[in-house]
Amino acid sequence: MTMRGEKKSEAGGKAGAGPLFSVTGNPFVDSGLAAMCSLLNVDHPGKVTRAAIEKKIPWLVDVYCHENWTRVFQGMIFPNSKLGNPSIRNRKAEYRKLLDGLLDSLSPPHSSGSCVACGRRDGQRVDKTMVPLLGSQPMANFFAAWSTGEPFCANCLLAVQFMPLAIEKIGRMQLGYRRSRPMHRRALLMHTVSWEILLAYAKRNTTEALRIAAAKEPGIVDMGYKAGATLNAIFSALTEIVQDPDVQVMPLDRLIVPLRFYTFSSDGRNPILEFYDIPSAVVDYLIAVQRSGLASQWDRVVAKGFVVRKEEDPNEAPYIRENQVYRRIVEDRSILRYFFEDRQRMTVIGSWELVSLYLRRLRNMDEERIQTIKDVADRILEICKAENSLKLIQILDRAKYLGQFRTVLLRMHKLTVAKKGQPLLTFDELVDAILPDERQWSEVRDLLLFRIYEAGASWLSDFLKKEEDVEGDIEELVETMEVE
Ligand SMILES: [Zn+2]
Repeated sequence: MTMRGEKKSEAGGKAGAGPLFSVTGNPFVDSGLAAMCSLLNVDHPGKVTRAAIEKKIPWLVDVYCHENWTRVFQGMIFPNSKLGNPSIRNRKAEYRKLLDGLLDSLSPPHSSGSCVACGRRDGQRVDKTMVPLLGSQPMANFFAAWSTGEPFCANCLLAVQFMPLAIEKIGRMQLGYRRSRPMHRRALLMHTVSWEILLAYAKRNTTEALRIAAAKEPGIVDMGYKAGATLNAIFSALTEIVQDPDVQVMPLDRLIVPLRFYTFSSDGRNPILEFYDIPSAVVDYLIAVQRSGLASQWDRVVAKGFVVRKEEDPNEAPYIRENQVYRRIVEDRSILRYFFEDRQRMTVIGSWELVSLYLRRLRNMDEERIQTIKDVADRILEICKAENSLKLIQILDRAKYLGQFRTVLLRMHKLTVAKKGQPLLTFDELVDAILPDERQWSEVRDLLLFRIYEAGASWLSDFLKKEEDVEGDIEELVETMEVE
């Protein structure tokens, strides 16, 4: 089965020698192609035939002419088009005529052409009634410097007509929320060089669009996310994509690519275009979590990243405010703190397996260093158990700066030497694994603590049940340690 890049039978530039559709690199066209493929149940645009599309056209006309869709077309996707313009009387007939015209104009690829999407056929200038965000002289818009529109060929225009099935709606932010985040409703669309991922996203949305249309509630797919929580909508989609059975069996080199999610509104008065980049490492990590059977652990870590305010329903939080775990991983910042369930009670979420996966895939840490940190944490736990004391662990947890962290390690080291006659860690382990970069000392501290809390869970919980709060002593200990 070849999924990517159909044979370039059109090479050489002879007209009539290639498939009607192929991936172009234009986000609107490619999303439309992916929607077409999922609707027709084929795995590549090269397999889409004119006859197969023609059969779907009556359904498309019927569904798109429902007022739920026409409102979305007018306000967000194709303003003043045959579908959107409220003054058009016989909308179904007009739209059918438009689609039939495109169908009749379909042509095989040539060696070149003026179409800005495929570059393989000549196009006619169209504006945003046919392709979102294209300029129309008097209106504020994004492309086509003061001219009306851009040239698109019939094949690409027909694909764009299917695009709305592959996208989802991000709702208007409710009043009362901070305005630092986008407020207006918009459409969310994904684009990437991985056809497989593009198709999986389109399939997810098209399946939902078909479901709601069959339930007599046609309209743009709306998962309930508001403009302030776009990143959550993106990760929700990604989670579903990595769970897609077709994606799960796919070789990784087809999947691990950066993704770009666009949010746009082609509204005449207030056009919007923004994008969110998802690094390939994040895609790699999410796939690895899924394939290692660690998804439920990961869900619990993510759940810690939702900020719920007192007056709010916790079930609503994911739909209105960005998850901090997601925000941090797309910005390449540490999320280790979210692996702790309760630092006072010394409990963690998930296993070392998940943490080491995170370190390898998202923090670029090598296996040897991860293993050394784990070993050192295990030795610390062992010595604390032998001492029958939590104090050193508690001091480690409270270390506020590098000096304190170093001091507590030294203290542990002396104790290990005294008790066991061997060092806590070697010089190489210190400089290669524990403090290769002093700026990251707190992340290493959290890793040591995570492993101690994970491996020592039952001992720690028994100990904490018996012990009174020892915070006073700890402060004293930290004081005394600093003058050592
Ligand atoms: Zn084209």
